[in-house]
Amino acid sequence: MLDVVIVGAGPAGLMAARSLPKNFSFLVIDKKKEIGLPIKCGEGIREKEFIQLFKTNDFPFVRNTVHEHEIRYKHLRRAFKADYLQLDRPKFEQWLAKPIKDKIRLNIKCIDITIKNDFAEIITNSLTDPTLMFRENMA
Ligand SMILES: Cc1cc2nc3c(=O)[nH]c(=O)nc-3n(C[C@H](O)[C@H](O)[C@H](O)COP(=O)(O)OP(=O)(O)OC[C@H]3O[C@@H](n4cnc5c(N)ncnc54)[C@H](O)[C@@H]3O)c2cc1C
Repeated sequence: MLDVVIVGAGPAGLMAARSLPKNFSFLVIDKKKEIGLPIKCGEGIREKEFIQLFKTNDFPFVRNTVHEHEIRYKHLRRAFKADYLQLDRPKFEQWLAKPIKDKIRLNIKCIDITIKNDFAEIITNSLTDPTLMFRENMA
């Protein structure tokens, strides 16, 4: 019985897991084989907000800083100036995952979720963890 199960070890799931109170028991599951892959992202992020969020600018996964952009779509072109970081997205997600790596299970797909009285059950395709249960009502 866990306090929280997070389905999806993308940036949202990893940030959610990192933000949980220290005394919560939790697991993050993901159907993918490796954190950060495959990449489905342009890897650009607004610099100012990103630094504000993490309260540092010392990132080991930033490839470049970009100040001028051009968006092209068919015959349309739009240029604009803005300060963006170009990330190495797999490295970024691996960095997010590092402090909670023991709580992440890959190759596990959530197939269904059922609510039973005061707990919820995650049904997975895993032979070792076919069901994961967590308390439905934390109040
Ligand atoms: C082509 C493209 C370009 C993009 N470019 C940018 C960009 O330049 N800058 C930017 O900021 N954003 C960009 N984005 C958006 C960015 O990738 C998303 O906002 C971000 O990935 C969302 O994070 P997430 O954690 O919510 O979801 P995801 O990153 O999609 O993570 C969800 C995770 O859940 C897992 N999952 C899903 N279903 C199950 C299940 N049933 N069981 C177990 N695991 C499951 C998936 O395997 C996945 O790892 C782009 C997106 C695309 C598609």
